[in-house]
Amino acid sequence: MKNKIEKLAKQIMQCKKCRLWKIRKNAVPGEGKSNAEIMIIGQAPGRQEDETGRPFVGRAGKLLNEALARFGRKREDFFITSILKCFPPANRKPKQDEIKACLPYTLKQIEIIKPKAILLLGEVAAKALLNIEFKKGRGKFIKQNSIVYFATYHPAAALRFPKVKEEFLKDLEKFFINIK
Ligand code: URA
Ligand code: SF4
Repeated sequence: MKNKIEKLAKQIMQCKKCRLWKIRKNAVPGEGKSNAEIMIIGQAPGRQEDETGRPFVGRAGKLLNEALARFGRKREDFFITSILKCFPPANRKPKQDEIKACLPYTLKQIEIIKPKAILLLGEVAAKALLNIEFKKGRGKFIKQNSIVYFATYHPAAALRFPKVKEEFLKDLEKFFINIK
């Protein structure tokens, strides 16, 4: 399993399937346990992720780590990645054609890792993997192909709005109470 994830990561690092390859410093395939029971999937790498090639290492990542710690978890317990594996310039929203080009990598990661549950951070991840309207589907357990999906806010939104942070933490509590 580890081999397969690493092989896929190498492919991602060389990928030229959408325009973003031209401006990336590093693609960010994801990291963590290749047999994780839970995957965490965000939107796209930010500047620090582009610099380091690692997911969720900037401010949003710091908040995510802190939030996980509240529930006795640490990021090493998961496999963490994003829908896009390359940094969109100026942190703009991913474009539809970029999501379409990149999604097979995430689907392949799910196929290899076979997690029990997937935590989706933000509406881009929720839309890409569940095709749900975020407002309606957020905070609910949705079973699809024997995997339990759960969408919540992106930690970057939680950083900007205290109310969102409150809801984000409540969602995580619900998620971790139900997914052991
Ligand atoms: N936001 C994401 O969605 N992914 C990262 O890796 C960092 C920030
Ligand atoms: Fe390839 Fe995805 Fe990077 Fe686009 S974002 S170049 S599809 S790895």
